[in-house]
Amino acid sequence: DKIYDMLIVGGGPIGLACGVEAKKAGLDYVIVEKGALTNSIYNYPINMTFFSTSDRLEMAGIPFMSIGNKPNRTEALEYYRRIFSHFDLNVKLYEAVNTLEKQEELFQVKTSKGEYLAKNIVMATGFYDLPNLMNIPGEDLPKVHHYYKEPWPFINQKIIVVGGANSAVDAALECWRKGAEVSMVLLEDEVDQAVKYWVRPDIVNRIKEGSIKAYTKSRLKEIREHEVVIATPEGDVTIENDFVLAMTGYKPNFSLLNQLGVKLSEDEKRQPEYNELTHESNISGVYLAGVVCGGLNTREFFIENSVVHAGMIVKDIVQKSEVKSKK
Ligand code: FAD
Repeated sequence: DKIYDMLIVGGGPIGLACGVEAKKAGLDYVIVEKGALTNSIYNYPINMTFFSTSDRLEMAGIPFMSIGNKPNRTEALEYYRRIFSHFDLNVKLYEAVNTLEKQEELFQVKTSKGEYLAKNIVMATGFYDLPNLMNIPGEDLPKVHHYYKEPWPFINQKIIVVGGANSAVDAALECWRKGAEVSMVLLEDEVDQAVKYWVRPDIVNRIKEGSIKAYTKSRLKEIREHEVVIATPEGDVTIENDFVLAMTGYKPNFSLLNQLGVKLSEDEKRQPEYNELTHESNISGVYLAGVVCGGLNTREFFIENSVVHAGMIVKDIVQKSEVKSKK
């Protein structure tokens, strides 16, 4: 059986960056991605604009062209497609990694399509596959969405947007502009300070003028077929409702890390243990790259500050194999 030097789980921006570095270093690598190329970005809202300028997202010296200074989803999808084709990366698409097991020096990897053997594993699985659930009655109704794509289904509909961060604010404004009746449910007394600086005044003013109703210091308590119950400081309020957009954030899937024995911190952050210089976890040969490194703090790492993980990881793998071959 073929033995890879490095198997990368996840074909997001950071998984691809690891593939580019591996290729440059002459390692035998494979990237295994369960969906389309850069699947998370593919699933982003259709009209989203990145908070990063395109130059800050660049990797491997390949220019990232965008019409505005901040790229949109389509421009990002095209950039990563060009990275993939330019470097002729070895990526397996629509193939989910189901189990990972360390057998002495090698890892046995079982996917939805087959099996692989690899000397090193890089986990670049991101955080966009599991939404943070509200755990309230009615959350499983089909009118509740944890992912938002575009405003067209919500024209002339009464919608609730839960959350006060970028995803919630983008969805609320876009749907309101297409004629939805929008109410927001915010845990705090205002929208997040971290909302994109050029978007924040827009939402603050829409709330101030009453175009978008904001229930502050509140939480959604129950979702019913045609109404919702909101717990507010003045008591429970029941309002008519057609759709709920639960923009409550996402979290990494820790199941593969658990299978490998990667330790997570005991605090609420649940941060995986790794060496900050090499990004190797407490399990020798298992590396962590990208958003997954932050554990439940999914804002700590993003594309801009994670592309460097790729170089650190490949450098360590190359150094270790040189040491081994000298022995
Ligand atoms: P991801 O892009 O999430 O990639 C992980 C990949 O792993 C996915 O394709 C997934 O399908 C795959 N995967 C997961 N499990 C498995 C499995 N078992 N088997 C095989 N494949 C698997 N960051 C910025 O730097 N700038 C921005 O402007 C910015 N804007 C954002 C806007 C939105 C709406 C969101 C949600 C995030 C934004 N981010 C931004 C954060 C950014 O998405 C992440 O930083 C980036 O996607 C991280 O890349 P990644 O490769 O670590 O993870």
